[in-house]
Amino acid sequence: SITDALAARQGAQRSTADLAATRLPGRRHYDVLVVGAGFAGAVMAERMARGSGKTVLVIDKRDHIAGNAYDHHDDAGILVHRYGPHIFHTNSGDILDYLTRFTGWIPYEHRVLAAVDDQLVPMPINRTTLNMLYGLNLQDDEAAAEYLRSVAVDVGDIRNSRDTVVSQVGEDLYARFFEGYTRKQWGVDPSQLDKSVAARVPARTSCDDRYFTDRYQCMPDKGYTAMFSAMLDHPSIEVMTGQGYADLPMELSWDHVVWTGPIDEYFHHRLGRLPYRSLRFEHETLDCAQAQPVAVVNYPDYDTPYTRITEYKHLTGQQAARTSITREYPADEGDPYYPIPNPAAQDMYRQYSRLAGDCENVTFVGRLATYRYYNMDQIVGQALATWRRLDARWRLDALA
Ligand code: FAD
Ligand code: UDP
Repeated sequence: SITDALAARQGAQRSTADLAATRLPGRRHYDVLVVGAGFAGAVMAERMARGSGKTVLVIDKRDHIAGNAYDHHDDAGILVHRYGPHIFHTNSGDILDYLTRFTGWIPYEHRVLAAVDDQLVPMPINRTTLNMLYGLNLQDDEAAAEYLRSVAVDVGDIRNSRDTVVSQVGEDLYARFFEGYTRKQWGVDPSQLDKSVAARVPARTSCDDRYFTDRYQCMPDKGYTAMFSAMLDHPSIEVMTGQGYADLPMELSWDHVVWTGPIDEYFHHRLGRLPYRSLRFEHETLDCAQAQPVAVVNYPDYDTPYTRITEYKHLTGQQAARTSITREYPADEGDPYYPIPNPAAQDMYRQYSRLAGDCENVTFVGRLATYRYYNMDQIVGQALATWRRLDARWRLDALA
């Protein structure tokens, strides 16, 4: 089984902590093995090669680089995202500057509409949403704030995602926009989810209909995969796709592992399985130039089995006679996409994280390895900070 093979491989690596033993003639040795070619793995590999002068082998069990941000041209020639829409947004000029070494950008501000009561209304809820939905004529921020205050429910302490929403916008808007969507997306009621989940999309009193309010919002001009290719294009970096950790050829060896897969997988689930939410993506090309007015339309009612439809041409400005869309169906089984922010899962993660702390020659970084519901820019920031710590350690070791 994979876990046995993994156990054997780790055992082998550990027992040969004396690295001379793994550097036998004819073997291929790398300073660092990076498991996973998503944002976490690619940033680490790039920095370790260019910044620390290390030799790096990057592997990914998928047949491509770029992790969940992977994009490619489909049969109709449209640039699509295989794992759902990825929109870049950040408040960090440093993170943007770092990525700008590897890509140019197209300005893009994301807008989302929600299908509610046969209307398409702005999401996050804003003044336009309130006016359209309730036939109101709220003229300014103060009028909208007053309206929201009149419907908001005082729940006392905000303990979960239900509290987050009803304390802001009351029961009716909660039921229409959040309850069904969240139950579909996470498989549990919002009352079972950390307050931070729904807090990602706070209501507004203005008519600002952008999904994100970050200072920088843009898309890589040739796509994410092209950006990752540029990051990994270095003589000291070797990339093997379609290559899992468990079945790496035995003749390869390394001093240090950067692990960006699920942290519980690394430890053979010895403390139990961390829960992850998955998605099934249904991709389709339509014989029309445009399918919907914006890139993403959310379907918050519980009866529609998908949560949202993405039409990619809006993200890239691509012109074509046909258009490609993706429907997202949440699922329990499948690739692990979302760590689950609830207390039990966080508690199990903390125990894994203590085990990780004892692994001197393994660095855990990324959404799955640190079990955090992080956006791309946050993962880039996390990886850059992790690399800086590792680089400092290597520099000290070199002096010793
Ligand atoms: P990943 O991209 O998941 O990369 C990990 C890689 O490790 C994978 O490619 C996997 O195949 C590989 N791997 C795992 N185990 C092994 C193993 N044993 N052997 C070999 N390889 C292995 N963020 C935004 O900022 N904006 C968005 O609009 C946005 N939209 C999103 C939409 C969806 C549907 C999802 C799921 C996420 C979205 N995100 C978005 C979050 C974004 O995807 C993540 O922040 C980012 O991809 C995390 O990068 P990572 O390297 O940690 O993980
Ligand atoms: N959400 C919702 N209705 C919506 C949009 C979001 O209930 O129309 C909730 C849902 O729980 C979702 C969370 O807010 O998981 C965060 O939304 P976001 O768009 O950030 O999710 P992601 O893009 O990470 O899947």
